[in-house]
Amino acid sequence: MNLVFLGPPGAGKGTIAAKAKDALNIVHISTGDLFRSNIKNETELGKVVKEILAKGDLVPDEVTVNMVKARLEEDDLKEKAGYILDGFPRTVAQADALETFSKLDAVINFVLSEEEILKRLSGRRVCKSTGRTYHIIYNPPKVEGRDDETGEELIQRDDDKEEAILNRLQVYQKSTAPLIEYYRQKGLLVDIDASKSPDEVLQSLLKVLK
Ligand code: ADP
Ligand code: ADP
Repeated sequence: MNLVFLGPPGAGKGTIAAKAKDALNIVHISTGDLFRSNIKNETELGKVVKEILAKGDLVPDEVTVNMVKARLEEDDLKEKAGYILDGFPRTVAQADALETFSKLDAVINFVLSEEEILKRLSGRRVCKSTGRTYHIIYNPPKVEGRDDETGEELIQRDDDKEEAILNRLQVYQKSTAPLIEYYRQKGLLVDIDASKSPDEVLQSLLKVLK
């Protein structure tokens, strides 16, 4: 099953994808995580995208599409029953490109109020090496400021600071929100209420996929 998780930053796409990938035996591919790992490893791609991510702008379509296409050709995909694309496509041009090399079964639209999005983004903390995501109130680590498994320090992403958050929400409205109608017209869109607890959101996702 090939899925896209669509929705504003902070809607819980990554959190639910991490749970759903095991339940559905599919691969979780987050373009944000792929970019961040390139930045951390100081690859050529990482150098190109570092400033773009810090500001909360979008990486150019061609760069992003090439990265996703290459990722979908990796071997782990052959052993699994499909994928979740989390954070891709984010523009109509990316969606058009995706159609030329893969076929989707459904697009899950995470619906959440702007008020709740701001609370989720401002409280988000991540472990830089594992990418595991926490929230200071909704999903706190066992020990404050430390990753549950590795004990490493949790950080706030640069783009989760106020200025970048406001920019990312504008970018979402302008460039990504049009994909809701785009996929609705193709009959692929499924809205889910992302305001519930992570387990409830997961259950409603599994139910609609049945
Ligand atoms: P969030 O989880 O808050 O929605 P992501 O981790 O998905 O954020 O993305 C972080 C950043 O990576 C984005 O703000 C953007 O700069 C870049 N990025 C991720 N996916 C894409 C994409 N499909 N197209 C362009 N840029 C992207
Ligand atoms: P996205 O990938 O859409 O940007 P994340 O999965 O990173 O979103 O979640 C954003 C923040 O909200 C994180 O701090 C996460 O722990 C928290 N979160 C995710 N899902 C929920 C939920 N259903 N209820 C409360 N908090 C959540």
